[in-house]
Formats: sequence, structure tokens, C-alpha cells
Amino acid sequence: MSIFLVDEYKDMEPYVPGEQPKDKPYIKLNANETSVPPSPKVFEAISKSEIWNMSYYADPHCHEFRQAVAEVYGITEDEVFVGNGADEVLSFVLMSFFRRGMKIYFPDITYGFYRTYAKTYGLDMEEIPVKDDFSVDINDYMELDGDIILANPNNPTGLMVPVEDIERLVKKNPDRMVIIDEAYVDYCGESCLPLAIKYPNLVVVRTFSKSRNMAGAHVGFAVASKEIIEDMNKIKFSFNPFNLNSVTMAAGIAAVKDTDYLKKCVIRVINTRERFTKELENIGFEVIPSKANFVFCKHEDIKSQVLCDRLKEEGILTRHFADERLTDYLRITIGTDEEMMVVLITIKEILADIHKTLVTAQEVAI
Ligand SMILES: *Cc1c(COP(=O)(O)O)cnc(C)c1O
Repeated sequence: MSIFLVDEYKDMEPYVPGEQPKDKPYIKLNANETSVPPSPKVFEAISKSEIWNMSYYADPHCHEFRQAVAEVYGITEDEVFVGNGADEVLSFVLMSFFRRGMKIYFPDITYGFYRTYAKTYGLDMEEIPVKDDFSVDINDYMELDGDIILANPNNPTGLMVPVEDIERLVKKNPDRMVIIDEAYVDYCGESCLPLAIKYPNLVVVRTFSKSRNMAGAHVGFAVASKEIIEDMNKIKFSFNPFNLNSVTMAAGIAAVKDTDYLKKCVIRVINTRERFTKELENIGFEVIPSKANFVFCKHEDIKSQVLCDRLKEEGILTRHFADERLTDYLRITIGTDEEMMVVLITIKEILADIHKTLVTAQEVAI
């Protein structure tokens, strides 16, 4: 640490993203990315002329991109804010609507970045314990004295709160801002997005990193009342007007318009997820029923940290969280059918190895 870092930043807790090792090729199932390419329309959109365009500043109002998003979702451009990933969009929400010391509530088991944001912006965070089955009980949020952020479906559990419950929460607390992070919503089929233009205290945040296969482009957007979007743009233009570059925007526009490709990708992931879940259960795993592009699971014969390490040795990356309530579980992103087949075979081999060791140990004991 240098002598120049300001005091307020000394106890920040930077987010630790899923690792991206490059020492050998891995089946990468640790960051909920997809192992398939973006829409073919994106390949067409990033043409030589797009490269020429790099000599000019991109449109800081992101008109064309916001319009494309608005058209696809049946809303208007002034109800859309676009940014450098859902992470940046969330950051602008917090920067715009939260003062240091303000309260923010979120579940104790959720996307780890919320804790980081709370530290970054000096918020008074309170984590509300999820139930023993990891579900979020909306009744725990009904009578709070602060704003609320929920990932729906939640990460890393894959569980979701029904949209009607969230509507109840939003309606009951008109002077509390409710932020719904819908990073995985395309895999669950039920969204709060239409509510975000109906209720002035609801902000819905989306990303292209998961269902649109574009984590590397890092595009996200928010949908809310035009007053909220206007405020966020005011902050953006006071911080970094060019938060999205021209190439990324061209890619984003092409991607968002290709709803057929999105549907195709999502259906494939859901089918693979359901099949993989059954296969895990068949070999003794407990799997939380997921509405996202990952499963959260555990097996009583092997510690999840050990399974994670063994899988990595075999060239498969998964995500283990050390937090007390999560440490028994492993989060595995749903890749292609071929990838999940390799994962399953590898897990079976690791388990067979362990059972063999167990049997030998028992024989020695006798
Ligand atoms: C992956 C994820 C994000 C990050 O989205 P980016 O657009 O890549 O910043 C945000 N929220 C949740 C819940 C996520 O799981």
C-alpha cells in the first residue's frame, strides 16, 4: 500500500473473480460463462468498418444500443442504461442512489460482489440469512429500513423468488429502492423487467455475460423509470462518458437483436442442466434445483474443496466457496453436453478412487 491511498479505501475488499489459469487448456466451468460463441450476427457486426470507427469516440449516449435493447424488450430508450457489464451498471446504481452510511440489505448467500460494493461505497450492509434450504424468504425483506438488492435467480444457489413476491415487496415499500440483479433470468423464464417501468422504486439489471455468451465483451444494462435512468446518466457523464467502446456496442447491438439465437442457447443449457442434475443425483449428489446455468451440489463421500482440487488436476475448473454456509457445496457451470459428459466421467473416477481407498482402509481395520 502506498502512503497516498485515502483512508476510506483502506478496508476495501476487492472482489475475487473465478480464476482464469492459462497453464493448460481447461474445461472452464467456474465463472458461469458459456463455452459457446456469441451470435453469428456478432461475427458479422465486427467488420473492418467497425475497426475504422475506432478512430472516433463512440456515442456516449449509446443511442443505437439503448434503442435496440428497448425494442427487444418493448420499452423506450430512456428507460435503458447500458454499461460495462452488470458490475459497472450496479456500481452506477450504487454511486447514484446511495450515500456513505446508508443501509443496504441482501441475503447472506448471494453474489459476492454486493459485499465488495458495500465496502467500496461505505454502505451499512446487513446480510439476511437465507433459509436452511438456501431459499430467500421475501417476508424477511418486507419491513426493512433500507434499500435492497437481490440476485434473482440467486448465485451460487440457482434458486429464485417468484416475480409476484418481488412485486409485493416493491409495492409495499415505495420509498425503498429495490434492485433486482437478473444475471441468470433467461434460464428461468420469469422476469421483473416489465415491473421496472411500472414501479418507480425498482431497478432491474441484466448482463450479456451469461445467456448471450459475451463475458469478454462485458456488457450489461439496467431498466428503470426514465427519471432513474436520467440520474444514472448524469453520474456516468460525471465519471466516464465513454464507458462502452464502439466495438463492444456494435457487438451488443447485434447480439441483443438475435433473439432466436438467445432462445436456442438457453434451451440447450436448460436441457443439459436438467440431464446433468439427474446424472449427479444418480451417483449420490445432493443438487439444489437450479434455475440458472450452473448447479450447486455436494456429495457426502468427498469434501467439495477436495473434489474441486481433483477436478482441476484433471483439467476441469469449478468454483468452491470457503464461506461457512457454502463450504460443503461445489458450483459447476453448465457447459456443452460434451463437456458435462467429461465432467461426469471424471467425477465418477474420482469417487471410485475414494471408494477404493475407503474399502482398503476398512480391510486394514478388520
Ligand atoms: C456474473 C454475475 C454478474 C456479472 O455480470 P457482468 O456483466 O459480467 O459484470 C452480476 N451479477 C450476478 C448475480 C452474476 O452472477
